[in-house]
Amino acid sequence: MAVDVEKITSLAKRRGFVFQSSEIYGGINSTWDYGPLGVELKNNVKRAWWRSMVQLRDDIVGLDAAILMAPDVWRASGHVEQFTDPMVDCKSCKMRFRADHLEGDRCPNCGGELTEPRQFNMMFKTFMGPVEEDAAVVYLRPETAQGIFVNFQNVRTITRRRLPFGIAQIGKSFRNEISPGNFIFRSREFEQMECEYFVPPAQAEDAYRAWIQERHAWYLSLGIKPESLRLREHTPDELSHYSAGTTDIEFLFPWGWGELEGIANRTDYDLRRHSEVSGKDLTYVDDLTNERYLPYVVEPAAGVDRTVMALLCDAYDEVEVNGEQRTFLRLHHSLAPYKVAVLPLSKKDSLIGVAHEIERTLRPHWMITYDETQSIGRRYARQDEIGTPFCVTIDFDSLEDHAVTIRERDSMAQVRVPIARLVSALAERLAPSGTVPLQVAGI
Ligand code: ATP
Repeated sequence: MAVDVEKITSLAKRRGFVFQSSEIYGGINSTWDYGPLGVELKNNVKRAWWRSMVQLRDDIVGLDAAILMAPDVWRASGHVEQFTDPMVDCKSCKMRFRADHLEGDRCPNCGGELTEPRQFNMMFKTFMGPVEEDAAVVYLRPETAQGIFVNFQNVRTITRRRLPFGIAQIGKSFRNEISPGNFIFRSREFEQMECEYFVPPAQAEDAYRAWIQERHAWYLSLGIKPESLRLREHTPDELSHYSAGTTDIEFLFPWGWGELEGIANRTDYDLRRHSEVSGKDLTYVDDLTNERYLPYVVEPAAGVDRTVMALLCDAYDEVEVNGEQRTFLRLHHSLAPYKVAVLPLSKKDSLIGVAHEIERTLRPHWMITYDETQSIGRRYARQDEIGTPFCVTIDFDSLEDHAVTIRERDSMAQVRVPIARLVSALAERLAPSGTVPLQVAGI
């Protein structure tokens, strides 16, 4: 079912996944705030990425570099010169577009004539130092990758790594996009999950191919439907200045295919530029062969917000239950904001006491929500709509048989479980998938 993007934005707002930034001031049309459920979903996405990239592998370590870096970093990387998009304006309605996003040469809004494209640098600038006039101009990073490159030698020496090895990082990036839009798909402040995987040049092509498979498998492991994903290799004229090959993992959004992640063979471009501009030697010496060279880099670069958007679209489902149209968010349990909802059947003190006790027992293990309002059917529906995989219902029999009902979201199946066994029964159902990701083949 191709879901309407309006339904996603409305659910996201109504249930507290995503709010427009600065809404009480009329909003700002390019940044978004994640509400109580959104921050959980987003954290779960980041945790899943970190788990597969760092925790489950012995060849990748983590980093958290600063957003503000020496301005020379961006001169060396090519961003000051080349991080531009072509911008055109409509001469009639004055709307502004990215020229490379347009089909045809007329304004898509009113059909008017467009200006010649002008190159527009997308880096945000700010001032470092108390007095604006003498302060240095610094940039808000437009990608997290450069923080990794400038720390390559630090991390490699400290961890005493041999190639191939990688450095992974999650963090905010900023781009002054010409036309932000499609909800959280394209904003001016967003979060990236990037890994720079350093390899001997001769292994770069194999590592690039292997990473495409590995990253594709990761999205499938999040429960995204195979038919919602595709791989698209860039044609030579599309490649960035540093790239010897790029493949995008795309998701079928309600408005069409859009990039979730790019996997690029960045060659030795970045390390070469940073050693030229900084004057520091960034070569690697293989202690077995004594060969000295600049490593090549394969980069899987993903976006947290785009993954969240894809998950919301892919998990969204509407079905008729007992003559009523109902919404389900069929998120994988590892991503669901709440894992378990504790629901006493009625507000009678005797049930509430037991329900709170169960809630207290479960809270240290998982994100739990507790709800005693409205009918039990309404409460199940509210949990289904936000993706809670399990509800635990405490009824009057629970006082006699010391058992409760676990109700599963997707099948709506119910099983009775002794309270004494509840934690282990839920733990079995919520266990992380045991599969270790494919290692990068052959290297
Ligand atoms: P696009 O072509 O859509 O502008 P890009 O190719 O410039 O994206 P990359 O530089 O490869 O993007 O960045 C890596 C990832 O960061 C993207 O795949 C995407 O998930 C995320 N990303 C990039 N720009 C934005 C943005 N403006 N808003 C949200 N996420 C973004």
